[in-house]
Amino acid sequence: MHHFQYRHGRLYGEDVPVETIVQDVGTPVYIYSRATLTHHFQVFDGAFSHIPHLTCYSVKANSNVAILALLGSLGGGVDIVSGGELFRARRAGIPPAKIVYSGVGKTREEIDYALSEDILMFNIESRQELEAISQRAQALGCTARIALRVNPDVDPKSHPYITTGMEKNKFGIRVDEAIESYRHATRLPHIKVVGIDCHIGSQLTEIQPFVDALKRLRILMERLHALGIPIHYLDLGGGLGITYADEAPPHPVEYAEAILKEMNGLSCTLIFEPGRVIVGNAGILVTRVLYTKSTPTKHFVIVDAGMNDLIRPSLYGAYHHIQPVVPSEREQETVDVVGPICESGDFLARERTLPRLVPRDLLAVMSAGAYGFSMASNYNSRPRPAEILVDGKTYHVIRRRETWDDLVRLENIPLM
Ligand SMILES: *Cc1c(COP(=O)(O)O)cnc(C)c1O
Repeated sequence: MHHFQYRHGRLYGEDVPVETIVQDVGTPVYIYSRATLTHHFQVFDGAFSHIPHLTCYSVKANSNVAILALLGSLGGGVDIVSGGELFRARRAGIPPAKIVYSGVGKTREEIDYALSEDILMFNIESRQELEAISQRAQALGCTARIALRVNPDVDPKSHPYITTGMEKNKFGIRVDEAIESYRHATRLPHIKVVGIDCHIGSQLTEIQPFVDALKRLRILMERLHALGIPIHYLDLGGGLGITYADEAPPHPVEYAEAILKEMNGLSCTLIFEPGRVIVGNAGILVTRVLYTKSTPTKHFVIVDAGMNDLIRPSLYGAYHHIQPVVPSEREQETVDVVGPICESGDFLARERTLPRLVPRDLLAVMSAGAYGFSMASNYNSRPRPAEILVDGKTYHVIRRRETWDDLVRLENIPLM
């Protein structure tokens, strides 16, 4: 469900014609829908309303402070993976008591920042990280609340680059080392064990891997309980998939039912870290056709958005539906939609059937709200696009387009 629909033969974001936004801010541009973001958050969060839980939106999926502030206003917390994300979350007014911190490579500076903010908990990914956080907490005279991120070794059956909970992945602590690590953690005076965590991957389209992971965590929790190590927070990570093409991922309510069934009386506060399922279908990337050209074997449509703006097709071979902002009756053509970047891997779609396109046509790349702008770069010295949040009949520029001056702002030519 999303609020990007055709009316009178033109694509709208909620009640605003996409063309109006493009006239004002140009292309390429990311457009998000407040109503869609709100709906997705409330459906997910609401699915767990009758049990103690905290929905910690995964900042890396889309890190704009306006979006964090919106989700915060709906009661959401956040899952962060860097000091920069903590800074954003605090800037957006997310209370520290709703912030969990994941990631395999937390630096001393980042740990100190998170300790000084007194966040809810660190999801610890290795024994050395546990030592580092323990030492920093001691130095700062405070206590760090922690969960161990356990690697349950289940196959989420998604793209290998977004699989995180298999033994071969760099994430988390092995199940058979977890108990010993917990015992060790409880002996550290500046560490307070409060939780257990896992995150098995992204864009999961089946429930079973989540249930399998929970089963393994439950066994661990029961053993910890027997050892007198109580677990207050069970953090099941994120990863619920969305429909890009013809996937049929479980609805959040189905997901919730499966999880609650498997909980089977286990009493603790559940934490979730959804990213894509909240923002993915709440955003589109609008781009303009610059040129078309044909070779004996291919038709190319060259657009003004490239892999620096949206890297998912190039990086994961990901599919994004592409549709004209103003549909036409022109005959269909099979084309590659490619960007201006000097890389053959720079494409938004390959072998896609679209009505014949001509220069200045506008295209909407759908489901671009997650891992779109947040993965954008300045490669080829391209300023990053503007971000717009539509709200009913109005819209807000939540990030202005970068300028060429922005590109060199931090650079310096030394006197030589
Ligand atoms: C990326 C990530 C998430 C969010 O994943 P989605 O697939 O976007 O829901 C949650 N938790 C952790 C630890 C992550 O790294």
